[in-house]
Amino acid sequence: MIFPCYNEEAVLPDSSTKIFNYFEGLIKQHIISSESRICFVDDGSRDKTWKIISKIDKPYVNAIKLSTNFGHQKALLAGLSTFANQFDAYVTLDVDLQDDIQVVSQMIEKFKEKNEIVYGVRSDRTSDHFFKRKTAEIFYKMFEKMGVKTVYNHADFRLISNRALQHFLKFNETHLFLRAIFPAIGLKHTNVYYKRLKRELGESKYPLKKMLSFAWDGITSFSVAPLKFVLFIGLLAIVISVGLLTWASIQLLLGNTITGWYSTVTLIIFFGGLQTFAIGIIGEYVGKIFIQTKNRPRFLIEEIIKR
Ligand code: UDP
Ligand code: MG
Repeated sequence: MIFPCYNEEAVLPDSSTKIFNYFEGLIKQHIISSESRICFVDDGSRDKTWKIISKIDKPYVNAIKLSTNFGHQKALLAGLSTFANQFDAYVTLDVDLQDDIQVVSQMIEKFKEKNEIVYGVRSDRTSDHFFKRKTAEIFYKMFEKMGVKTVYNHADFRLISNRALQHFLKFNETHLFLRAIFPAIGLKHTNVYYKRLKRELGESKYPLKKMLSFAWDGITSFSVAPLKFVLFIGLLAIVISVGLLTWASIQLLLGNTITGWYSTVTLIIFFGGLQTFAIGIIGEYVGKIFIQTKNRPRFLIEEIIKR
């Protein structure tokens, strides 16, 4: 079980007790082996998160401290890749336990039925406030329209087999968007459903701005639909301009002088804006290529506690 943690000092004492109780329960019921482990990944927290994690005295708790804040996705990558080939299956879930930990036993059941990926799907998001729920819904639909394969209402609560992990590690992209990578892997998979719980303590590390940029990152990492869209707008503008030109020519031939400072200026501004917009979209992709070609490490580990 892998838990990414970023500035979670408020959450950890309470969450970790719940996690340990549940985990020990799974071992007692022989659902998982006693060789199983929990791993907390401290994603460059600035509060006491690492202090709390490193002091945990349980024989089954591992911990990774990243050198700075790399973001949720890369924290998961750090946890998964560090322990690749050491376990049969891996579960990732949020340390605030908004992803209902009680569902993990169902995930393991599905894994034992030979599923390589088990997606945790939110059947009920009433705990998220209206705006977050709606924007999330719009994004899932947008992904679908743009041909990005994702599992509706699934975030990063999932179980993956070691085989799925090996495949995942072949995806070398800098801009990680895990929820679209795993569906791209394929393999036998299924869903389990859970009610998304409320964050009891601390606050969300995903404010609107970060959420929007994450969604945009997902789109531009998996789809060229925005590029096609500007191509379409460009073509449409050409068609309209030919129509307008024809109309203006006819008026000229008929001897109707066309006054038109406003229309001219409006058109100049409109097309100026359109071109800048198109360049901006292309620039987003070029920027991504630029960063990807550098092939920089996606995370850096400062310290590991392995048991
Ligand atoms: N998280 C992280 N790095 C970050 C932001 C968040 O590791 O840069 C972790 C965080 O500690 C939590 C999980 O990712 O375990 C989900 O974050 P959060 O609960 O703030 O997001 P929300 O549930 O509000 O979408
Ligand atoms: Mg949360």
